[in-house]
Formats: sequence, structure tokens, C-alpha cells
Amino acid sequence: MNTTFRPSLQSKLPAVGTTIFTVMSKLAAETGAINLSQGFPGFDCSPELVSLVERYLRKGFNQYAPMTGVPALREALAQKALEQYAVAYDPDSEVTVTSGATEALFAAITAVVRPGDEVIVFEPAYDSYVPAIELNGGIPVFVTLTPSEVDSSIANASDYTIDWQEVSHKITDKTRLILVNTPHNPTGRVWTADDIQQLADLVHDRDIWVVSDEVYEHILFDGRVHHSLMTHPTLQERTFVVGSFGKTFHITGWKVGYCLAPKALTTEFRKIHQYLTFSTVTPIQYALADYLQNPGHYRQLPDFYQRKRDLFLDGLRQSRFRFNPAEGSFFQTVSYADITDEPDYELAVRLTKEIGVASIPVSVFYKQKNDYRVLRFCFAKDDAILREAAERLSHL
Ligand code: PMP
Ligand code: GLN
Repeated sequence: MNTTFRPSLQSKLPAVGTTIFTVMSKLAAETGAINLSQGFPGFDCSPELVSLVERYLRKGFNQYAPMTGVPALREALAQKALEQYAVAYDPDSEVTVTSGATEALFAAITAVVRPGDEVIVFEPAYDSYVPAIELNGGIPVFVTLTPSEVDSSIANASDYTIDWQEVSHKITDKTRLILVNTPHNPTGRVWTADDIQQLADLVHDRDIWVVSDEVYEHILFDGRVHHSLMTHPTLQERTFVVGSFGKTFHITGWKVGYCLAPKALTTEFRKIHQYLTFSTVTPIQYALADYLQNPGHYRQLPDFYQRKRDLFLDGLRQSRFRFNPAEGSFFQTVSYADITDEPDYELAVRLTKEIGVASIPVSVFYKQKNDYRVLRFCFAKDDAILREAAERLSHL
């Protein structure tokens, strides 16, 4: 029978297209440009780590891992939190291994956000947060952070400083969750001890949970220390702390992350995790548990990346770009307001095609696509690539 009936598909995420990371990486590949857009290391991980994975593959560790993560890795993560932040998590009931931080963020948000709940999001914001909130019926409430040139109203404004009074005004009876990301993607800003205290003061007597995206926890510069939210007792008891091995061990393609949270939160988190992915790739978990035994592997990251940041910025010093050096992460934002008033998206595409350097326009991380004439460059690349990119950009 001939029928014209077609089921009507109503998108649950009508405003969402393909991520900017995929768009710009594809454009870079097509044009042969240097790709400083999507955030991933341009160099390989340690051969020791590869050998460890190989060993566990050959030993036959090839079936499902326990839903919560292999015990050795959960224990190693609890040990790391204890040594580094002096906070005790029970590996059995408070540590969960996930398939990347992306999965952990989705599971944590889903565990606590119900339809109509408000979620405070600092923007510019990493792109997976808002869709996860909206799929759960939550309402993102934005606190908009700006580059210092733009907002002269805040005394001693440094880039993307948080106005805590504004945060306080945005909290209502419906606020259920606050999303934190430090060190921050895309701005490279790092929370101070005062930021942590301000947040604790705001939430201490409210039914508000916190998701803290700390995937760049080991990449801080100029002597800064990472203030994990777990170090503040008021925050620790209400926070899902999310991490990722992708950033720490140069293995973004392996997609292994984790979530540390008090028992009651972890119980709810795992109910989601077990039906999202159930468990995470087994041999890699065993390898990571061994590799974590040597903290030297991540303690050298600040020096390693600070040198790359400085190499890139030295190359840009003669240019007309303006910047404050990134405080953490492997991203550097630069203002091109002195060079052109083209929209940032158009400029990012033009620079990819014309001078062969791909970047990310920072407007994509704002709900209203606020364009402050800022581009983000990833400096997790080989030195020669960074020198060449800076040289090309300097001619603008
Ligand atoms: N959060 C932030 C801030 C990130 O930059 C990224 C990845 N680039 C993620 C989460 C996702 O991490 P993963 O690749 O482990 O899912
Ligand atoms: N987090 C990476 C970035 O900010 C990209 C991750 C992705 O491509 N989804 O560039």
C-alpha cells in the first residue's frame, strides 16, 4: 500500500549542530592548515603507557570491567586525591571510572537535574554542559564572563573574573546545580582560593549541588596551585569532581575519565552511568592504575606546558594580538580587536584558509554568541609547529 505518512521527528536539541571542534578540525585537514583549534596533543603518549596497555591486552583482560571501574584504578585515584588534596574518598563507594569526562559530566548532571531546575553556568562554557542540562529539562542560567578589556566596571579586573554578587543574584529557589570548570576551557583562567570560598558561602545552606570539571587539574602555570573543590569541606560534600586521563597523559583518544563524589551522590551517579555505558575499556584501566603509581608522570606537566605556552606567546609578541598569558589548561586566548573587526567565526575560517592556522572562535562558547574578538589557540603541539603558527600569525 502506498502511504504518505511520515513520523515527525522533533529534535530534542534544535539549536545544536556539529561541534565547532569537528568543524574546525575538518577545515584544517581539508586545507592543510596547522590545527590549533580542537584541543588535543599533537604528540604521542608515553611508550611505557602503550606497553602497559599491550601487556594487559595480551594477558587477556579483554572482557567487561566492573561497572564502577577496576578496583586497582579506583584505589589509585583515591590515593591520588589523598596525596594531592588531603581528601579521603572511599574507592568502593565514592570513585567511579567513566568513558571520558564527557560521560561523567552527563551522568552527574542527569543524576541531580529535574525538569524546571535551574543550573548556573559560567560562560564561555565548554560545549557539552548546556545540552546535558537541557536534555534533563533543566534551565541554564548564565553568568557571563568577559575579557578584561571589555568589562572595565570590575575593579582590578583580570580576564574573565567572576562577579560573585551577580552569581548571588542569579541563585533562586529553583537553582539545583552550579557547574564549575577550573582550569578553564576556553579561557585558561584558574579559580583562586577566594573563588572557592565565595562559592561555598553561597551554597552552604541551600539544596544546591556542584559539578566541578577539573580535567586540566595538572596543567597550571607560573607557580599556581589547583584549588580542587574537594578541598573545601562545604563543597566536598555536595560536589561531583570530574577528571580525565585524556589531558593528563596525552591520550584524548582513549576516553577514560572519572568522578569522585560522596557516597550518596555516587550512588545516584552510578545509576545513570550503568545505563549510559555500563563500564569503561578494561585493559586501559589496568594500565592506568599501574602508570598512576608514579606521580612524576603528571607532576612534570606544568613545566612542560608552560614552556610551550611561552614559546607560542614569544612568537606572538611582535604581533598586534593582545593577550594575558593563560593561567592553566593548554589553551591561550588572544584578542584581535587591534587588527580587524571581523566576526570571530569568520576570522577563524579565513585564517585557516589564508594563512593556514586553525583556531576556535570564542563566541561559540556563549549562549548568545557574544563576540569579543577573541580566538582560542591550543598550544599542546610540537615546538616547531607552534613557532611556525606564531610566525604566520605575526604577519597579520
Ligand atoms: N571538559 C573540558 C573542559 C574539556 O576541555 C574536555 C575535553 N576536551 C572535556 C571535559 C571532555 O573530556 P573527555 O575527552 O575525557 O571526555
Ligand atoms: N575539549 C576539546 C576542546 O576544547 C575538544 C573535545 C571534542 O572535540 N569534543 O577543544
